[in-house]
Amino acid sequence: LVEIKSLHKSFGSNHVLRGIDFTVEQGEVVCVIGPSGSGKSTLLRCVNLLETPQEGQVIVRGEDITHPDCHLDEARQQIGMVFQQFNLFPHLSALANCTVAQRTVLKRPAEEADRVARANLERVGLSDKIEAYPAQLSGGQQQRVAIARALSMDPALMLFDEPTSALDPELVGDVLTVMRKLALDGMTMLVVTHEMAFAREVADRVVFMDGGVIVEQGPPAEVIGNPKEERTRTFLRRVL
Ligand code: ATP
Ligand code: MG
Repeated sequence: LVEIKSLHKSFGSNHVLRGIDFTVEQGEVVCVIGPSGSGKSTLLRCVNLLETPQEGQVIVRGEDITHPDCHLDEARQQIGMVFQQFNLFPHLSALANCTVAQRTVLKRPAEEADRVARANLERVGLSDKIEAYPAQLSGGQQQRVAIARALSMDPALMLFDEPTSALDPELVGDVLTVMRKLALDGMTMLVVTHEMAFAREVADRVVFMDGGVIVEQGPPAEVIGNPKEERTRTFLRRVL
């Protein structure tokens, strides 16, 4: 579904991504782990072109979205993104947060957008909070609205950048439960996370990044359970 080929990204003289190659298959859950500053967020932002890579390609469903002729808006529509900070519209209800892009970007009729939004808010366990505004919701509930909002665009791929890092510990579980369910439903997911238990349980593949390169990747039982590389071991000793 997604193919990333020798991706390079620099900010000024800071060479952040130093040749990243990997693929995400349809229905696969790939967790990206690694130390702070290793380029995980930058990688995710390059996948939906919030950042423009200097070199390399991002191919989504066979289309090179880094190519100048590519219709960026159409390409982006296939990719949902959930951030550490939920980035909801504060002046809109949970329901309206989930309908606005459907109507403006996908040009869906109001009724259909409403139906899709309600279904996705139910999917994340928030049927009873449809009319609530972000300020009236807990962090975990806001994050679940953000997930419902992304799902309402019917993405082929969901990107998550540390979706639980800004949450109080007791709220993390609800969000991970929603993500686990999505994975079971067959959603293709690329997840940057510090939640090693989640990665171990849910990921089909774990990618360990350090210093802008992929040091090691494979099934969680290998990369987390029995890492080959010393750098991976050092990282895991610190976080486990
Ligand atoms: P963390 O675990 O702390 O979120 P990360 O692995 O997500 O770290 P990135 O946010 O991708 O790391 O940052 C990698 C490097 O790129 C850092 O040195 C950071 O300062 C730099 N960087 C990221 N975004 C920008 C930007 N917009 N402008 C300049 N430098 C940036
Ligand atoms: Mg980051």
